[in-house]
Amino acid sequence: MTISRPEKTRRNPLVRILAVLALTISLTTITSAVAPSAFADGCYTWSRTLREGTSGADVTQLQIRVAGWMSYGEVLAVDGAFGPRTTAAVRRFQAGYGLAVDGVAGSQTYSKIYALQDDDCSPAHFAWSEVDDDCGSGYDGGSVSEAAVRENLKRAMWKAEALRHKLGDHPIIVTSGFRNLACDGYPYGQHTYGRALDLVPTYGGLCSIAQAARYAGYNGIFGPGYPGHYDHVHVDSRPGDRVWDAYPDCGVIG
Ligand code: ZN
Repeated sequence: MTISRPEKTRRNPLVRILAVLALTISLTTITSAVAPSAFADGCYTWSRTLREGTSGADVTQLQIRVAGWMSYGEVLAVDGAFGPRTTAAVRRFQAGYGLAVDGVAGSQTYSKIYALQDDDCSPAHFAWSEVDDDCGSGYDGGSVSEAAVRENLKRAMWKAEALRHKLGDHPIIVTSGFRNLACDGYPYGQHTYGRALDLVPTYGGLCSIAQAARYAGYNGIFGPGYPGHYDHVHVDSRPGDRVWDAYPDCGVIG
């Protein structure tokens, strides 16, 4: 004789609670385990928190992305060593984007960088297509290797992204970026290295860019007041001494 004994199949309430707890814990574990990949980025993904005193290639990648957040006239050395200047730059980056300001690059800072970073490593509001000279193929024929030109352009675009954000996130147009030696009428400047961008604002005047560039890690700035620079502002990351001239029109000189 078959006897239905539902009381035997019904689980003890305590067992049910434990089962639900176990499921919750395992789901939490799974969620935690996949969290890193949820934040994975097509360009670059950081795997540790970086703070003053750390060093490595991941610090270099961080420095490239915060190098536009400097004090007046300061240029951040992209050297893979997280020192006081990097801390200050990270703090300004965090403040600029409304994050908690602690000078430490952790998940919050990385999330913002990932949001700003395209899979091709250009920042959100500047594109490789606009920094190419449309002369020859790609980034060859410059003063340095194609790879070096690309690296320089990437750094230039990240500084421009900071500049753009500081100026209210209005679009800024790049009228010239890399120029190869065959196409450049002035093959002694920074454009053939990929270190320079010529910028035109869509809001505000040229001087706003020239003035803000003094706080964006550019040690080459030429704008209104300097011959040939009344319709754009040239910014670059030349090695050596800084050369600024958007004077007297913009009051930028140095
Ligand atoms: Zn230029």
